Amino acid sequence: MANLRFIVVEEAFKKQALEVKAPEERPSEYFGKYVFNQEKMFKYLPTDIYQKLRDVIENGAFLDLSVADQVAAGMKKWAMEMGATHCTHWFQPLTEGTAEKHDAFLEHDHKGGVIENFNGKQLVQQEPDASSFPSGGIRSTFEARGYSAWDPSSPVFIIGDTLMIPTVFIAYTGEALDYKAPLKKSLAAVDKAATAVCQYFDPEVRHVQANLGWEQEYFLVDESLYVARPDLLLTGRTLMGHDSAKNQQMDDHYFGAIPGRVAEFMKDLEIQALELGIPCKTRHNEVAPNQFELAPIYEECNLAVDQNMLLMTLMHKTARKHGFRCLLHEKPFKGINGSGKHCNWSLSTNNGILLHAPGKTPAESLRFITFVVETLMAVHKHNGLIKASIMSATNQHRLGANEAPPAIISAFVGSQITEVLNKIETSADAELSAMGGSHNIKLDIPQIPDLRIDNTDRNRTSPFAFTGNRFEFRAVGSSANCASAMLVLNAAVAEALTNFKRRVDALISGGEDKPHAILKVLREDIKTCKPIRFEGNGYSEEWKREAKARGLDCETSCPVIIDRYLDQSSIDMFESMHVMKEYELRARNEIKWETFTKKIQIEARVFGDLAMNHIIPVATRYQSVLIDNVKKVSQVFDKEEADKLNADNISLIRRISRHTSYITETVQKMIDARKVANKVENTRQKAILYHDTVAPYLESIRYHIDKLELIVEDEMWTLPKYRELLFIR
Ligand code: ADP
Ligand code: MG
Repeated sequence: MANLRFIVVEEAFKKQALEVKAPEERPSEYFGKYVFNQEKMFKYLPTDIYQKLRDVIENGAFLDLSVADQVAAGMKKWAMEMGATHCTHWFQPLTEGTAEKHDAFLEHDHKGGVIENFNGKQLVQQEPDASSFPSGGIRSTFEARGYSAWDPSSPVFIIGDTLMIPTVFIAYTGEALDYKAPLKKSLAAVDKAATAVCQYFDPEVRHVQANLGWEQEYFLVDESLYVARPDLLLTGRTLMGHDSAKNQQMDDHYFGAIPGRVAEFMKDLEIQALELGIPCKTRHNEVAPNQFELAPIYEECNLAVDQNMLLMTLMHKTARKHGFRCLLHEKPFKGINGSGKHCNWSLSTNNGILLHAPGKTPAESLRFITFVVETLMAVHKHNGLIKASIMSATNQHRLGANEAPPAIISAFVGSQITEVLNKIETSADAELSAMGGSHNIKLDIPQIPDLRIDNTDRNRTSPFAFTGNRFEFRAVGSSANCASAMLVLNAAVAEALTNFKRRVDALISGGEDKPHAILKVLREDIKTCKPIRFEGNGYSEEWKREAKARGLDCETSCPVIIDRYLDQSSIDMFESMHVMKEYELRARNEIKWETFTKKIQIEARVFGDLAMNHIIPVATRYQSVLIDNVKKVSQVFDKEEADKLNADNISLIRRISRHTSYITETVQKMIDARKVANKVENTRQKAILYHDTVAPYLESIRYHIDKLELIVEDEMWTLPKYRELLFIR
């Protein structure tokens, strides 16, 4: 019987690119085709309803049911013209991905027939059965009521025959059961706090929004090879596999030509994304073989989060259409780069000012410095929590583990900003006063307006880097819901800005003039948050030591890092910013620990199975071949010569035995460790046991399996190898 591996490899090689026909219209014409955007709202809604809805979207006005009824009527008309027959509330539970429950527009017409119906009530609120989604114990199952509630700030869209309605998902008693509800609260908090600070500089500012531009990295693997790897199929990553002789050492994949099959996939994906209103901008190869990236133009944070969730769904679907599987796992392959999702974050005002971009006048410069410094204050104060916001069983392989940046949050600002901050920090009050009058402060600092924040100054090793007009949070994992990181960042910055304003106001009431009051507080803050600023190599060993000395959070164990959500400083921050209550945080942590445990549990099971049912039998079979050969050689030659000829094979036979016995014994130890952990009731304790006593076996056993892969005859090895998974086109 032919080896399955050879069959699937051959199949993968034979595949041709699936040609995608681009729409006849230009992208600018089909952009947002399936989205009920502003233009369609205007077309399908009565003018007064349109205006009321805009007021809801732009100013958070209250939406009453009569308005919702009319909005629903307009949406239904558009959706039915587009061929939709169903609608669903689309939400982001605390599992991965999104959830939906489809209902037909159909309803009895009380005359024995049916009619298409969709009203305001259906638009505004539904009750999916919440009992099957994780709640961390907020809802006991007998009270399995969760509501999904329409989020008017993210437009509805159509996929296939279904009208998709973005919603928040909350328990009957009001607690968030999703990512979106707290995200929206964090956006309201940062809006309020940042607007108040902006008004020092420009009283006209009414609102501040957070922006997010994500860069989604991913791997593509040929589908036939993927299904021949149970570990990829069941855990999203390869649990074993020796390095390919060639991987990324040549750096030839990055920005290289995009292979044909992949190019068609990307084209297909982008067309669909554009039609769904996702403004795709760049696509390119990433550092590792078969690794790619897609980034849209940034959007308002809540919308950008929804678009990213939608894109991840589209990626999986489209990859399969092209005979690929899309891997969003942070570390699908050992020894080569993992995948992240850089989150470019900034604040901007309703009158179009980017608050993290250098301004033209001294006052604008001061505002810019204020927002940079207070962002650093937030990241400094909550560096452990910010790390917790991106930590997961999958992302831990990218951060803090082997061949990965350390699990320490620091911020890079570049030499120009550093110089400015140092100047403010060291200049004396008198010196600053001498620089300007009360309303026309002149900072003796390099002319910020002239700053060309150049890209050469970029530090690729920093997890949180200032990049000209935004901060780029790079530690976010490729499979994550960006909302997890964004809601913590928004809330932390809201808190920092609120504290800043309180102190500046106090100085002003004490008689200080405004610019000097601001400078005084900034100087204090620049000193306070200094430990978070790090311009050096974040991957170096010295940095780990230095970070510890600076008092930054250096914990590397995922389940322990999750504790940071329950620090008093975190609880105070979330509660005072009205983002989450303590018991919500506790419930969510239960889910995080539970999820961590389940992931490792599944990996350990799959791994044990593969080791015992694939690897050991194959290695033993090859060992028998060698033993046969040794026997035959002994029959043909005299003892002295046979001994000489058999020496190499006998040593191989021994090596195989050493590896297989290690594997067999250690798999049993891993199973025993699991049994011990499974008996533990406390979710946190259990997750810690899985982390400390189960997960390490995966690595130690893998070492021996990967050695066997090098020894066993290629034809016998059943699992597709790295060189095949990574270089097939
Ligand atoms: P990189 O060099 O890191 O790949 P890109 O130029 O590709 O950076 O931009 C990455 C992302 O940052 C894009 O989504 C882009 O729209 C976004 N971005 C640019 N400016 C801002 C900003 N002020 N706020 C938020 N995101 C931004
Ligand atoms: Mg980037």
